Amino acid sequence: MFEKSKALYAEAVELMPGGVNSPARAFKSVGDHPLFIERAKDARLYDVDGNEFIDYCLSFGPLILGHSDDKVISEVSETAKKGTSFGAPTELENKMAELVIDRVPSVEMVRMVSSGTEATLSALRLARGYTGRNKILKFEGCYHGHSDSLLIKAGSGVATLGLPDSPGVPEGTALNTITVPYNDPESLKEAFDKYGEDIAGVIVEPVAGNMGVVPPVGDFLQYVREITEDNGALLIFDEVMTGFRVGYNCAQGHYGVMPDLTCLGKVIGGGMPVGAYGGKREIMERVAPVGDIYQAGTLSGNPLAMAGGYHTLSQLTEESYVYFNELADLLEDGLKEVFGRHARPITVNRAGSMIGFFLTEGPVKDFDSANESDLVLFKTLFQELLKEGIYLPPSQFEGMFLSTKHTKDDINATITAFDNALARISKK
Ligand code: PMP
Repeated sequence: MFEKSKALYAEAVELMPGGVNSPARAFKSVGDHPLFIERAKDARLYDVDGNEFIDYCLSFGPLILGHSDDKVISEVSETAKKGTSFGAPTELENKMAELVIDRVPSVEMVRMVSSGTEATLSALRLARGYTGRNKILKFEGCYHGHSDSLLIKAGSGVATLGLPDSPGVPEGTALNTITVPYNDPESLKEAFDKYGEDIAGVIVEPVAGNMGVVPPVGDFLQYVREITEDNGALLIFDEVMTGFRVGYNCAQGHYGVMPDLTCLGKVIGGGMPVGAYGGKREIMERVAPVGDIYQAGTLSGNPLAMAGGYHTLSQLTEESYVYFNELADLLEDGLKEVFGRHARPITVNRAGSMIGFFLTEGPVKDFDSANESDLVLFKTLFQELLKEGIYLPPSQFEGMFLSTKHTKDDINATITAFDNALARISKK
């Protein structure tokens, strides 16, 4: 069923580390080789062997309008005909900035970059420069890209591969990163009691999406806001994943908690390489060239990226999120019913168009409880679902994503696929 993918992967491992250009793609925890993709349209992915899948990975989140959205593709193509990058400003950058500022409540000024990693590392530099402090606090199991300061107790591929930290991160850098469990106000308070005056900023995924989907419990985010404010530290929301996924006005609009800085990525590029960071004018005006904190990029804000992002964001409406909730309700109820019938535990966590399941009784509220999930069963289930035409993100520690192109029929077909897969697993 997957012969061509297998052969291409055998070639790829000789050419690229692990055969891939980003670790999470390698299927390390869920199989022997990844699938090589030929094309994709709407909610469907087609591999090189001619198999068709309902896709819940969506390139790890960006494709909220589904694959190859007609408008996005035509605008990016038309834009490309006029030139791909000028190293000079374009009107499209103004339009994109206006749209982001309009939609993201706490953002008064924004700077475009080319990836989520760049967004978070730039926001950290700004927080350090602005406060004159060195330490950063992050939460266990949250992933903020692969910059040195943030590759400490990270989720996503780092969790999938079981790497505690990465060699190559200098000890001195690691010493400036404090980690505490997610959803644990007491540990956060202890860290502030100990290091408060040295903490430049707290960076948090307002809904964690890199240990599977783990929403904030109770008033956790409000507490993080209060303690940062009380201690003169900046609050940085890493909305690279949650931005425009959790709600029309991002997670901050949904939960009503306003950070000082926001990092964006994924959806704001609509499949093109885009990241951004923004926030209060007073802080953003410290960024060069108006301010003294340096950050730059040859391809930042390039026309193709801006066209992809602008025409993705401008097609999203408040109704899109009502629809995502309807789909997620259907999927959650269906999964619980099927797992119940097969006498297997499941915990479903959700936020807007992000939905994740863990193979455990739960509740799952932090990295330790996420690790209670049955990873062996996840691997078998993942493979059985591929045979059923369902493509999940290839790790327990990634969430599933919905697009405006997924239909209720797709969700019902997915629930049936889980039922079939579990029936086969039980017989084994
Ligand atoms: N922050 C979060 C919350 C992410 O999920 C990711 C990527 N999964 C990043 C940062 C890094 O983004 P990129 O891969 O575009 O560098």
